[in-house]
Amino acid sequence: MKLQDRGQVEKLAKFKSPKNLVTSFFLDTDKSRLSRKEIGLAMKNLILRGRDRLESTDLDKNTKESLVRDLDKIQAFAEDQIPAAHHAGLAVYSCSSENFWQDFDLADPPRNQLLIDQNPYVRPMTAILENHPRLCVLLLDRREAQWYEVFMDEGRLVENLTSDVPTKIQAPGGSDRKNTKTLERRISAHIHEHFKKAAQVTLDMLKKNPFNWLFVGTIDVHRSGFEEILHPYVKAKLAAWLKAKPSTPTDQVIKEAVGIQDELKKKDEEALVARFAAELEKGGLAVSGTRETLDSLNQYQAQTLIVTRDYSVPGLICRSCSRLYLSGASCPVDGKALLPVVDVVDEAIEAAFKKNCGVRHITAPSKLDRYGKIGALLKFKNHGA
Ligand SMILES: [Zn+2]
Repeated sequence: MKLQDRGQVEKLAKFKSPKNLVTSFFLDTDKSRLSRKEIGLAMKNLILRGRDRLESTDLDKNTKESLVRDLDKIQAFAEDQIPAAHHAGLAVYSCSSENFWQDFDLADPPRNQLLIDQNPYVRPMTAILENHPRLCVLLLDRREAQWYEVFMDEGRLVENLTSDVPTKIQAPGGSDRKNTKTLERRISAHIHEHFKKAAQVTLDMLKKNPFNWLFVGTIDVHRSGFEEILHPYVKAKLAAWLKAKPSTPTDQVIKEAVGIQDELKKKDEEALVARFAAELEKGGLAVSGTRETLDSLNQYQAQTLIVTRDYSVPGLICRSCSRLYLSGASCPVDGKALLPVVDVVDEAIEAAFKKNCGVRHITAPSKLDRYGKIGALLKFKNHGA
């Protein structure tokens, strides 16, 4: 099924097996960046690593058997899905001994991961729901107004309005200029009323069910007039003008809106990286590179973690205080021994979530590559640092 709302994740998070462990699997299937072969290879590597881990851990026979079956089923499912996949990501949760299985199509690419734990690992799903923009699409002409809600690349008509605006026929009683003028004035007053109503409905929607971006589809001549009467809150959300109009078929409306959304998301990413680079270059509130970024997380300085989508590197964790390191034998803070982790970037993302630090994934190639593929915007800087 498609990941669409929080309810799905909440339901999933409730699953618990009294005796067995759950496998959580995430695969980046974004074909705009990756070839089918690359996706297949990444999947096989994940499963292989999972199998190795099972071999080397001490689990009772039943638990292990259930996990082995999970991996078999997930591999078969992924092999089947990859060729036709048109979503940016795939998530699977499985606990074979409990006959538990859920798979999700994701609108944004996740980090490739395979986790075995007591509960389904839902954080990547929550992150996608939180980071994906909610769109309000308004299609407007002189008589009609339609509102669509678009989220996770799916949309539906939620409201419409038809106003009684006279059509531009000749005034009854003759074609003299005076009558025509009067009628034109009456028509434009009606259109103005219609636009005002449409602007009010949009404001009510924003208050009731906040959206991130407003896209408006209307002909050029109406644009500036409509923009003028929008409430400042709504105007601040206006992000694009669409070609679609009230007579455009729904699937075409959604397609145009999603296309523009993707372009805006890309621009948004670029703007974030540019802000980060500017901050770094002036020695401001930013750090770059894995070591410095881990330090900033360890010290609760990081406000937003910025990481290249598929960047991954091994590292170390202190199981006592959860601080992360790239090298060392013991934790400099409490002296406890450090344990190796396969991917310290994953651990950093997890730590960021726990510390209420935002996480932004950047698609390569980007300016972030020059700064070691990872960095953070900071809340503050330590004195002397
Ligand atoms: Zn420690």
